[in-house]
Amino acid sequence: MTGGAPEARARGGRKGVALAAVGAQWGDEGKGKIVDWLAVRADLVVRFQGGNNAGHTLVVDGEKSVFHLVPSGILQPGTVNLIGPGVVVDPRVLLRELGELEAKGVLRDPARIRVSGRAHVILDWHIALDKARDEARAEAAIGTTGRGIGPAYEDKVARRGIRVADLLDPAALRRAVDRLAKEKNFELTQLYHWPAIDPEALFEEYVELGRRLGPYVDHTGRILEQALRAGKNVLFEGAQGSLLDIDHGTYPYVTSSNCVAGAVCTGAGVGPTRIDGVLGITKAYTTRVGGGPFPSEDTGPKGEWLGERGVEFGATTGRKRRCGWLDLVVLRDSSIVNGFTSLAVNKLDVLSGLAEIPVATAYRLDGKLTHEFPMTLDELARAEPVYEVLPGWDEPLTGIREYGALPANARRYVERIEAILEVAVDMISVGPGRDETIARRPLFGPRG
Ligand code: GDP
Repeated sequence: MTGGAPEARARGGRKGVALAAVGAQWGDEGKGKIVDWLAVRADLVVRFQGGNNAGHTLVVDGEKSVFHLVPSGILQPGTVNLIGPGVVVDPRVLLRELGELEAKGVLRDPARIRVSGRAHVILDWHIALDKARDEARAEAAIGTTGRGIGPAYEDKVARRGIRVADLLDPAALRRAVDRLAKEKNFELTQLYHWPAIDPEALFEEYVELGRRLGPYVDHTGRILEQALRAGKNVLFEGAQGSLLDIDHGTYPYVTSSNCVAGAVCTGAGVGPTRIDGVLGITKAYTTRVGGGPFPSEDTGPKGEWLGERGVEFGATTGRKRRCGWLDLVVLRDSSIVNGFTSLAVNKLDVLSGLAEIPVATAYRLDGKLTHEFPMTLDELARAEPVYEVLPGWDEPLTGIREYGALPANARRYVERIEAILEVAVDMISVGPGRDETIARRPLFGPRG
């Protein structure tokens, strides 16, 4: 899309790039690293959905930081970071992350992080209910992170949620807490036999959290609009991944928000005509956390090997991830739903040392060959992957910075992905560090 071109002319030609970067698989694709890399060129980095169920591991100068809520652009000096209305905010977590960043000297100016007053708040009730319900589901657990994200989105859609702006208005907060207390405590105590949460203590605590969060609360939509008009580069940072999307993912093993590129519009407050490109972020193989069918999973020693080489443990929960081969049926589906204009392939270095690398290009479902991602979970569970086996390479890739310097078979692997998906692989990641990246084409122009 090239929306905004007439405006750009009116401004004397400068048009920044508005780029959405989203997960193309079941999350954990290494979005944090890519976003951190792109943020060097971004003026604004915007979170538009999810909450602190995301976990972004960034390695800068050998130092590891894990953020759950703060946009990944925060480590870039001069970048403004927005938490849009589509995000659900746990104020305690946000304040803890901001405190850490202040202590490290990364965050000196509150203007570098702005939180939408319209974003919904995660309350203690949501966290308790999340845990209580997952415990009660036992075997049928969908593997929530227990951070209250789902219950907070439920209250938002049920039109009884509490928003960040309410925290700054004790009278409004009082009314909202009183409205919720009876129902939440009834569910907790009667249905799950959990202790009730004292609404009075909760009110006092959230007033205090609101007081501390106040300097960061803003109308993020306006900041975004001004930045787009001024020809700034804007990066929309997705959390989770396409297959975890509430509508387009492998329901019910999904997250409670929309996380495809379309959610940028609703979650940040920007029209689809203003978005110039969608970068799909994928691993060079596939992982999945929790339950649900996963056709290209390798439960044998090779899958174990992938998990160990790729350090596949959740940044948020520490849970071991299930591992398997790249699934191009999954990626084709996610490319359609998101409208990818380019791809970033992460963790290509993990595959070094394999003689052969299988890649799923189709499924066999009830005896028939299909390239389509199945409609239902039952069908997905019955789908058997059809593999194309590509030749591997032995060389370590981590030191490589130029595409042409990759082993021929690594290039062949990347080019096969491009040919099947008909999307260019513009970035390749060969290690966790910011500089361990191969950029084939620039996605952003210079900063505005
Ligand atoms: P995210 O939530 O999508 O950002 O993904 P996670 O942070 O959960 O998982 C990515 C993990 O892989 C982190 O530990 C990163 O440091 C690491 N990582 C990211 N890119 C690469 C890469 O290209 N190679 C290797 N070996 N590790 C990577």
